[in-house]
Amino acid sequence: MTPISSDTSVLSSTNKGPFKAPRGTQITCKGWQQEAALRMLMNNLDPEVAEKPDDLVVYGGTGKAARNWECFHAIVRSLKDLAADETLLVQSGKPVGVFRTHDYAPRVLLCNSNLVGHWANWEHFHELDRKGLIMYGQMTAGSWIYIGTQGILQGTFQTFAALADRHFGGSLKGKLVVTGGVGGMGGAQPLSVTLNDGVVLAIDVDRTRIQRRVDTRYCDTITENLDEALALCEAAKREGRALSVGLVGNCADVLPELVRRGVEVDVVTDQTSAHDPLNGYLPQGFSLDQGGELRQRDPQEYVRRSTASMVVHVNAMLAMQRAGAVAFDYGNNIRRFACDAGCADAFLIPGFVPEYIRPLFCTGAGPFRWVALSGDPRDIDRTDELALELFPDNEILTRWMRLSRGQFAFQGLPARICWLGYGDRARMGEAINHLVRKGEISAPVAIGRDHLDTGSVASPYRETEKMLDGSDAIADWPLLNFALNTASGASWVSFHHGGGVGMGYSLHAGQVTVADGSDNAAQRIRRVLNNDPGIGVARHADAGYELAQQTAREKGIRIPAADAMRRAQVKPLVLEAKETISLINGTQAMLAIGTLSLLQAETLVDTADVLGGLCCDALKGTDTAFDERIHKARPHAGQMKTAANLRRMLEGSQLRESHRDCGRVQDAYSLRCIPQVHGAVRDTFAHCRQVFETEANSAVDNPLVFITDARNGEGDVISGGNFHGEPLAFALDFLAIALSALAGISERRIERLVNPALSEGLPPFLAPGAGLNSGFMMPQVVAAALVSENKVFAHPASVDSITTSGNKEDYVSMGMTAATKLKRVVDNTRNVLAIEAMAVAQALDFLAPLKTSKRGQTAHSAIRSVCPTMEKDRVMYGDFARIAALIASGRLAEALR
Ligand code: NAD
Repeated sequence: MTPISSDTSVLSSTNKGPFKAPRGTQITCKGWQQEAALRMLMNNLDPEVAEKPDDLVVYGGTGKAARNWECFHAIVRSLKDLAADETLLVQSGKPVGVFRTHDYAPRVLLCNSNLVGHWANWEHFHELDRKGLIMYGQMTAGSWIYIGTQGILQGTFQTFAALADRHFGGSLKGKLVVTGGVGGMGGAQPLSVTLNDGVVLAIDVDRTRIQRRVDTRYCDTITENLDEALALCEAAKREGRALSVGLVGNCADVLPELVRRGVEVDVVTDQTSAHDPLNGYLPQGFSLDQGGELRQRDPQEYVRRSTASMVVHVNAMLAMQRAGAVAFDYGNNIRRFACDAGCADAFLIPGFVPEYIRPLFCTGAGPFRWVALSGDPRDIDRTDELALELFPDNEILTRWMRLSRGQFAFQGLPARICWLGYGDRARMGEAINHLVRKGEISAPVAIGRDHLDTGSVASPYRETEKMLDGSDAIADWPLLNFALNTASGASWVSFHHGGGVGMGYSLHAGQVTVADGSDNAAQRIRRVLNNDPGIGVARHADAGYELAQQTAREKGIRIPAADAMRRAQVKPLVLEAKETISLINGTQAMLAIGTLSLLQAETLVDTADVLGGLCCDALKGTDTAFDERIHKARPHAGQMKTAANLRRMLEGSQLRESHRDCGRVQDAYSLRCIPQVHGAVRDTFAHCRQVFETEANSAVDNPLVFITDARNGEGDVISGGNFHGEPLAFALDFLAIALSALAGISERRIERLVNPALSEGLPPFLAPGAGLNSGFMMPQVVAAALVSENKVFAHPASVDSITTSGNKEDYVSMGMTAATKLKRVVDNTRNVLAIEAMAVAQALDFLAPLKTSKRGQTAHSAIRSVCPTMEKDRVMYGDFARIAALIASGRLAEALR
């Protein structure tokens, strides 16, 4: 080991540059792997690239490339000395040792800002930072693969493209996006929106930051005047023209003002450096200088004021969301800080990863990037062509290339970013290496990625927010990623804490692998660029994402099932003779689907009772039809149960009392006969449960072996037909029919809620500001369409039979057809109930201050926890999806308990 920090000649060097990465093919290190690390470190600090190069700050508040200038020079020296079988260790931006390893090992291993869990907070970090013991590495700052704002541009472009697809038919044309922060990362927002044809108002307190985006053509114009900014945006919106306006101002002032003025905002997000309340976010009422002064004088007071401003800021975002804007958190942890400081609803704003990015992660796709170490833009041109040659069918890549090539200035070394998935990354990397070898690319290329990637992060408020299995905070995965990339031979590998969401909130790993045209590089690339996204696919497969499991199967990524089962505490089944047949037998599959569907259906009928009760109340229905005496006179079990549920749902309702003397004798069937209809559904479910339970505990094989004397093995082997699916087929058909009725009567209640002739004084279509909004007109159409589809699917499959097997199997059940369409009926019914839930919650909001019953209020709050009141028309897809998930989880039905 060579101790580096004791090298006084190095420690005395404090030259602050400015530095630029060397260009060309001459190197000063002992090999290209080391030279690449050196150039990328210097490139991170190139004034064209870094936000504050004098302070070694690259981006993201305080994300640095080296701890201090002495350390920077020590790293440079070490890299120049480093042999092809040695590895340099960097601890929080300081070189701390060189060890002999081997020529396939990484040349540099970096760990930044890591703290033991209990101490993993900003206070402790700042204390250590003041002592000069640690450095904030952000993600690609301390791991030397930041490529300027372009790095984030593609990811931001991709996010806005996904958002446009989801909410606005594929384009942001004529839409206004409001956002804050145009720093190193946030600066990508204006161009990303205009590349998607939208209009954006980007607010930043620091004029120089906006000016920089204008100078590099990421933002069209700058102003300090809100009226002027709005006039420009309005005009562009009207004319369907893409435009980005940078407004100098504090988000906590400007956003509430936009709400006050009723400016129609279509999308709202934020990329101020809120993850770091001390250094990254300016409180209201302070100039930059005044903020700096308070930060020095009283850091605690600064944080108190900045988080209080975040509350104001996020409350304004929530108001915009309620008014119909698509709101999302863009990975700066502003929700957490605002929530802790008193904004209880902050997490009603969804995170961008679960909303838009996770499906990409499931295929191993993420922000793959490469840098031409020659400094020659023609090398990037060649790689652009290569990508288009290799992936002509990748629509987003082709679109991105068309939009990005020549559109904006490179910052520092020419670079390109493209989201590529598992398999494609290795293909691209190997092809680049080949072109370097052939001389078609003039010098080696550094191939890396952001830490924000498929298998490299644990970050519960960003990359791993709302994982399917709840494994959001498990940090084994990024550690495994770090180790795997080291074992696979990346050129340098890093492990960081904090990153974009701040101390205590994320752990993540990065890698860079250099294509220098050699065989050694080809092998490193093949291993790293497959394994690195491969672990991402495995991570998502393990969490239960079907798309990731399918990717793993299709791409041959081996995921030992035994390990996964052990982790999930599932005991592996060891099959006995002939047991395999049960895995492929159609009757077993029918039973499995039937049982799962039945369990979901049972939750749906409970939920339907809850919603029936709410509707009855909102439509001023009478509860006399649920009188116990009526139902005792016709005592079907299901009917009795639903009637009891409805009584409970209406018990103590102010709404009910408000019209007790109205004299109405009886309501329409969809209210009055809920016990009879839901009850019959319940009785059908009970019958199916009995069939499935009998089946699940039966011997269905053929032949059957009957042992009369186990000791002597005496008995009979008898052939029969126990495997026949008929008993199940009928039950599956009954289930579909009963569920269709449940959805059908629900749709009738929705109709009553929206139809002004039937809704007892509710606004037509439950629309706020009648005449201006269409409210629930279209959701009722959707419900009607789903109910209609159910009626087709409810046609019994078991009435059919087609002979097979040379007429031996001459009467079959068609139960599998019944089972597969049953699944669709379950989903449709859940969606119809979700529409009813949102509509009735809206109706109850209109009827305030009169309240429904205690149980009704519990149900109403559960709906409101995932879906705000509709204050003007908005895209409701997300609302319905969230309510459907709420229903599936059983939380809405809990109001009965
Ligand atoms: P940065 O520090 O370079 O820029 C932040 C900007 O916010 C600065 O220009 C600052 O002047 C401005 N700002 C601070 N307080 C403000 C206020 N109250 N009102 C208006 N402007 C204010 O940071 P960056 O590199 O642009 O990153 C921004 C945030 O996004 C960070 O929290 C970062 O961690 C996060 N991030 C997200 C992603 C992602 O993929 N979504 C990626 C990287 C970073």
